[in-house]
Amino acid sequence: MVSRVIPVDPFDLVIFGATGDLANRKIFPGLYRRFQAGQMPMEARLIGAARSDMSCEEFRAHIRKSIDEFVHENKRDPKMIDDFIARLDYVPVDARGTDGWDDLKTKIDNTHITAFYFSVAPALFGDIAERLVSYGISDSESRIVVEKPFGRDLASAEKLNATLAEFFDEGQIYRIDHYLGKETVQNLMALRFANILFEPLWNSQYIDHVQITVAETVGVGGRGSYYDKSGAMRDMIQNHLMQLLCMIAMEPPYHFDPDAVRDEKVKVIRALQPVPAHDIVRGQYLGYHREGYDEPMPGYLEDCEDPNSKTESYIAMKVNIANWRWTNTPFYLRTGKRLRARTSEIAVFFKEPPHSIFDDSESDVNWKANQLVIRLQPNEGMNLKMMIKEPGPGGMRLVQVPLDMSFAEALGEGGADMPDAYERLIMDVIRGNQTLFMRGDEVEAAWAWTDPIINGWEERGDKPKPYDSGTTGPEDALMLMHRDGRRWRHVK
Ligand code: NAP
Repeated sequence: MVSRVIPVDPFDLVIFGATGDLANRKIFPGLYRRFQAGQMPMEARLIGAARSDMSCEEFRAHIRKSIDEFVHENKRDPKMIDDFIARLDYVPVDARGTDGWDDLKTKIDNTHITAFYFSVAPALFGDIAERLVSYGISDSESRIVVEKPFGRDLASAEKLNATLAEFFDEGQIYRIDHYLGKETVQNLMALRFANILFEPLWNSQYIDHVQITVAETVGVGGRGSYYDKSGAMRDMIQNHLMQLLCMIAMEPPYHFDPDAVRDEKVKVIRALQPVPAHDIVRGQYLGYHREGYDEPMPGYLEDCEDPNSKTESYIAMKVNIANWRWTNTPFYLRTGKRLRARTSEIAVFFKEPPHSIFDDSESDVNWKANQLVIRLQPNEGMNLKMMIKEPGPGGMRLVQVPLDMSFAEALGEGGADMPDAYERLIMDVIRGNQTLFMRGDEVEAAWAWTDPIINGWEERGDKPKPYDSGTTGPEDALMLMHRDGRRWRHVK
């Protein structure tokens, strides 16, 4: 099956921060892939903007390098790359000054859809928004795309929302959480709302608990001092894991429409219970000496260059949702750096059948319950663990087997060609579809739930527990589950 490419209308996309890391690794390589897929109309224009004083030719050479580095070699077609590069333009612009803005205005064709990607520090969002309007570059149909972090607490998120609202309507603001652009996350909605199979069971009567895991093998590396100002709670739980939780927990929206979907997500976030300190485990990774390497790998405290840091590189927590559907079905979230495997997945643990007609002594009683595992990475797909009879004579022995679906395999060529999250989201901006972007009230609701947790740590001076690199995190995280008679899924 080959993926269908739906063309979009002519557009001008300005990328502020075009010389930065995100633009180089994700945005321009993603735009190249959409160009190669034939989705970009001939008239589309891609304009980079940043302070660096470079010519258009220099900028093109810079992006050519990004494509060489970050686009898979199977997708690097020299002719296509030349054609794509020829589309690029560049304007030196200072977000905080007057330089470049008149120039930028001359580049924009207001008969096109206009979109402005703010791939810069959030402190510059207001400056750019203000200048886009005051220089008459944007109009009431323009879209702006803003990156995370969207605030570091409720007060700063409210302030940022208020600043953007001075210049743009909510319907023009696209707050990116790239997790929402992942194929599997969208497939969660198809799984739940395009099939009759799961929805009747999708509640606390049939679901014992849900585990959401986002594990990384890398540490914070050179970003240590930056990361230290946020930590796993702000960097991952408040946004990415929260979005995944919403997709699992939300009620069916009346329509697959941006506000209908986002209304349901906000209701979930507002129903999240405060989390007591004993339901949270925080950790910091320790250094280690990797076999074959002369230098030891630094621990978190060395990476962040603050021996007294109380910021967590790992968090595991139990979250309860106070509504009819989910009361008594906890959601366990965990995420961290320098863990054993790089994995993102959601595992839905169903309850055991109410009565077993089989002889428990003959079957593996621990694993009777069905599990639905939705993998975000690696190898996006789904896996439903079912009980069957073990083949062969000699009684009714039960075993659990996976019904496994890898999207790339199931969808053949079309699956392998799946656009990455950034590509999909940028094209949604051009199409004017906000379904996969966070609304202002959603972000604020998430901070309103997160703030008291973080404030509690700060008031008590809580220090994260050390954990060995390459493991599954602190021992206490295992206890969080064992205490409830459950255990974390083994992730590979
Ligand atoms: P970065 O590498 O530091 O790049 C920042 C960009 O902003 C550069 O192009 C810089 O270019 C430009 N810039 C800085 N000051 C400016 C000014 N006054 N006027 C105009 N341009 C200015 O940052 P990044 O990692 O790409 O991150 C960009 C945004 O994405 C941030 O909000 C970040 O939190 C978010 N984000 C990044 C990642 C990631 O993987 N990198 C992931 C998620 C979210 P000049 O110095 O030439 O002006």
